[in-house]
Amino acid sequence: MGGTAPSSGNPADGKALAGYQLERFDSAHHPCLGLDGDPPYSAVGSEKSVSRQTIDELKQQIPLLDYLQAHHWRPTRQLSGNRWMGLCPLHPDHKPSFLVDAGKSLFYCYGCGHGGDVIRFAEIFYQVRFPQALALLNQWRGLEPILHEATGFYRIQLHRHAEAVAYLQQRGLRMPELIEHMRIGYAPGGCLRGWLRQLGYSFPALRQAGLITAAGYDAYVHRIVFPLEGNLYGRSISASAPPHRFLPGTKGGLYAWEHARCYPEVILVEGLFDYAVLWQAGFHNVTCSVGNHLNAYQFRQLCDGTRTVYLTFDADSNGSGQQAAQRLACQLGEQGLNARRVLLPEGQDPNSFFVQGGDARQFRCLLEEARQ
Ligand SMILES: [Zn+2]
Repeated sequence: MGGTAPSSGNPADGKALAGYQLERFDSAHHPCLGLDGDPPYSAVGSEKSVSRQTIDELKQQIPLLDYLQAHHWRPTRQLSGNRWMGLCPLHPDHKPSFLVDAGKSLFYCYGCGHGGDVIRFAEIFYQVRFPQALALLNQWRGLEPILHEATGFYRIQLHRHAEAVAYLQQRGLRMPELIEHMRIGYAPGGCLRGWLRQLGYSFPALRQAGLITAAGYDAYVHRIVFPLEGNLYGRSISASAPPHRFLPGTKGGLYAWEHARCYPEVILVEGLFDYAVLWQAGFHNVTCSVGNHLNAYQFRQLCDGTRTVYLTFDADSNGSGQQAAQRLACQLGEQGLNARRVLLPEGQDPNSFFVQGGDARQFRCLLEEARQ
């Protein structure tokens, strides 16, 4: 990058950060960032300078760790505080040399010597200059409003399509309060694109969000849709299509974690239909990892306090749910949490347990019998 892209980072970051020590992250000021009173950021070859305030706002709205995770970066270990090590996404890395201070939203790589903030990361990751990096970040941030509109649209569709309501009933989802709480919608297919275009969203924006296929069709067709953090999960109601679909990007954090985290005992399930029936049965201390493998973000959430976690994964015949539960129980135990594995009857998941007549009292018995 030799001096071509002065930006949020020091242009000569390789040299400037030679000998840079881990401990430096503890100091109040990061050497990659300009001192207070510096002139506003400006890109070489661009007459336009961007105000410090605009940049600070952008950085505030896009925490570095969120952005890294959206780019499939996963920490391999936690250092003290809110600092993480992992493989460097900026150079071929075999032993974790990429340090992230999530609190300060800064990174530094001991391998390639790059370091800086989220803007600097986007510059290097996409090999673009400062103005393009800002544009990319703004675009990324713009996903949220599109998903909000899509969610609203799908929610209206749910009540217009009898097949969707019938499917929910078949899966045991009946209470209007539940549909409201989970903001469940339905994607009939063939109509989202027109709606969003009418609202002024461009075709490339819809493509980028993954809501539209390359051929221009709605990506979700005949799917029950659950909004997640920065994504939409679509469950096909037709047996001929792949059952589960997500938009590109991360599945986000634990489902409804803000509700669940205040309970000293939390029930963790792998599917949103599992979550739904438990919530409906009065278990509001439930959360969902959307799959039986937790991403690093979800794992950190689960460990953000002292609690007992009831791992209620599927009792699949191949044992994959129980193996995942066992692994996770060990990992949670290492973090000082009390993890218990709930054993459902063979071949069942929490959803089928309730759909086939199980009730809250019976489920409570399973919780009491849960193994450490
Ligand atoms: Zn590196």
